[in-house]
Amino acid sequence: MRIPPMNDLLQEGAARDFDVYGREALHRAIDAALVGIRATLASASPRAIDELFWEEVGSRLAVLPVMRVRKAINATGTVLHTNLGRAPWPREAYEAVEDAIGAAVLEIDPESGQRGKREAPVSALLAELTGAEAGLAVNNNAAALLLAVSALARGRKVVVSRSELVAIGGSYRMPEVIDAAGAEMIEVGTTNKVELDDFRVALRDPGVAAVLRIHRSNFEIKGFTGEPETSDLAALCKEHGVPLVYDLGSGVLHGAEMPCVADEPSVLAALLDGCEVVTFSGDKILGGPQAGLIVGVAPLVERLRRDMLTRCLRLDKTMLAALEATLRVHLLGPDAAFARIPALRMLSLTRKELQLRAESFQQKLLAERTALASDGAQVPGAADDCALLAEVVLTDGRVGSGASPTADLPGAGLAIQLAGSSADELARRLRLSETAVYARIQDDRVILDLRTVQEHEESELFSALLAL
Ligand SMILES: *Cc1c(COP(=O)(O)O)cnc(C)c1O
Repeated sequence: MRIPPMNDLLQEGAARDFDVYGREALHRAIDAALVGIRATLASASPRAIDELFWEEVGSRLAVLPVMRVRKAINATGTVLHTNLGRAPWPREAYEAVEDAIGAAVLEIDPESGQRGKREAPVSALLAELTGAEAGLAVNNNAAALLLAVSALARGRKVVVSRSELVAIGGSYRMPEVIDAAGAEMIEVGTTNKVELDDFRVALRDPGVAAVLRIHRSNFEIKGFTGEPETSDLAALCKEHGVPLVYDLGSGVLHGAEMPCVADEPSVLAALLDGCEVVTFSGDKILGGPQAGLIVGVAPLVERLRRDMLTRCLRLDKTMLAALEATLRVHLLGPDAAFARIPALRMLSLTRKELQLRAESFQQKLLAERTALASDGAQVPGAADDCALLAEVVLTDGRVGSGASPTADLPGAGLAIQLAGSSADELARRLRLSETAVYARIQDDRVILDLRTVQEHEESELFSALLAL
């Protein structure tokens, strides 16, 4: 038996649709499968290039992971859905990334051609936007807080209220973060109540290097509760010459314009209250790429900037470009920010607007179904068998990512049902469809909340539904 030339084998492989894995991978899989064939060539009954051979090539390719990070349509109604990548970027951000992919002006001074500061533009933009003296950006807010505690209090003590020792996600737990930063935690107060005096007593310890305030983000304490105003705590810290660091989490900039996050502390308020270092996320309410932003008084931000950890936690050029572009949109003011930053637009959509969108979407589906039914006239019941029912329903959306955790965003969407499919099955088919659609299940129905579906994604959502 003669082994056909590789080109012929590649062609045959492509004809069997194996080229979706890429030609290189197909080449390697064929090579590997040929080893077995070659070993038998000298024997009386050599193996052939047969169906079994191609099955082996296929199974070698099938273990390669398919592209996992890919486009999805978020129809869950949770605007900042961490598992779906949090904030969808504004166009300005991804255009900036395209520009920065090749060689980019990053850490070089155009005037002198000498090495410059890579974070200088973002720092200036952050200062301009928030009124802070200086700013800094690192990989994410978790990194920002780790850096702040480590640079300010490594080998010393940090005071924090027992009511703010939060866990965020699976493994980000405040006491462990402080420990990892190399600082010792002094807890004050109780779960529900902490007094200014508790902090005053703790600050008598000369080993204290910082006081930490952490936004509770993903839960609320109700009932017999109390804590000092941030401004009073900041004043007390100033008396003792110890910085107050506030981890805000969501990073609300245009708070007044956004009733749904009215109870979230804004970056500006935290600075005005006298916090010397404030940290927040880039991909929560700021609506940009993943990043951890730090603003505050110049000497402390500078101390953070010079810390070795900053080098370990820094952003790459594409994220810096996306962040810079997002901050520039914010700088145009609240109107521009709400018009151009998808997360902000989604947060501000009213139920009325969403109801109108849901109704016209339902009409389109209905029209398509009628067209199908008349096509299938020769096959009675053909259209009914694949009947997709869609009903306009009222929904309650969420901000997500630990911002205003108990606030409902009154919205609208579609409840869909597919004849012969359970809600779980239908939701699964949507997740696995060509354009992945993530929905919510409620009362045994699949709910598509249109708040989090961008208008330009509606035609793709429509196609995904029709493909069912
Ligand atoms: C979300 C959040 C974090 C973590 O921020 P990432 O950007 O996800 O790293 C830290 N602290 C608070 C209070 C948060 O809300």
